[in-house]
Amino acid sequence: MAVSSAVKCAKAESGCAKDAPQCKKCGKAASISLRYMNADLCQSHFVKMFEDRVKRTVRQFCMLKKGDRVAVGLSGGKDSTVCLHMLHKISKSLPFELFAITIDEGIAGYRNATLDVAKRECKKLGIPLTVVSFHKEFGSTLDKLLKKKGRERSCSFCGVMRRYALNKYARKLGATKIAIGHNSDDVAQTVFMNFMRNEPERLGRFGPLAGAVEDEAFVLRIKPLFTTPERDVAAYAMMKGIEIEFSECPYAALAFRQQVRKMLNSMEEKYPGTKLRIVKAFLSQNRLMLDGAKFRIEKAGKAGERGNVNKCASCGEPSSGKICNLCAILERN
Ligand code: SF4
Repeated sequence: MAVSSAVKCAKAESGCAKDAPQCKKCGKAASISLRYMNADLCQSHFVKMFEDRVKRTVRQFCMLKKGDRVAVGLSGGKDSTVCLHMLHKISKSLPFELFAITIDEGIAGYRNATLDVAKRECKKLGIPLTVVSFHKEFGSTLDKLLKKKGRERSCSFCGVMRRYALNKYARKLGATKIAIGHNSDDVAQTVFMNFMRNEPERLGRFGPLAGAVEDEAFVLRIKPLFTTPERDVAAYAMMKGIEIEFSECPYAALAFRQQVRKMLNSMEEKYPGTKLRIVKAFLSQNRLMLDGAKFRIEKAGKAGERGNVNKCASCGEPSSGKICNLCAILERN
């Protein structure tokens, strides 16, 4: 769904001012129609509902505690920027430190624009920002690497490199948590992608708190927007005057995720609420899986047996194999 259509004037949708939808809460003219919850809301009730839901998700999954040092993985896109704003808001009542890390992959014609947004939004909120570039960290931009390796696997390569750099620098900067701007659309897509690829073990590690593999080298990831639809994130950003950069990564169209996204959006159009129902189904299934894992650990009597974490023989970062995925991509063995 196009971000620009996120805030649809409910009045315009009805086509008739007389029948203009009213806010379910206060009866004033509605600003947004939320088909997944069969409700129209005015701007102030939408903003309240949005913020309450994010705070509830943070509480429900015990994402934050007093004294945490949280690194926001800030791309400058709408999701991570809204995530930064929400955490900044929460940090006023639950004191924890907040800073941001932006990964510059070196994607010509795309990343510079979002990087500028990240810098401006951090400045606005007084949040320190560290920029880590692929070029400095790995000796090559993503563009150059893909020229050598082919564009087909752009997102898998980029994902491995980004996760590595984010984890490494968050750890270096003393973060106790990394906050990621994944919204509920991303979650529904990831669940489907894992089913389609028959990768249940990946799904076992996925969740609102990611880091089922317990090792001090991994900084725990939290996802405050886990139960928030993408369209709501865009609407909130617009209503709150948060800068949004609309450009899209040139490699995104090649990604398998894009096909799954289209499929789920078309299902959502026909059956509103589909994506959130997938997230809920995943969460109940995930709890069963985690309970099962806990049971197996307790039975084995070894709390550290959840993941098989070695150190990569090439870079020393955590890895499930002898050589980590990153060093395999960069052929550093
Ligand atoms: Fe990287 Fe793919 Fe995202 Fe582009 S769309 S930034 S290549 S993960």
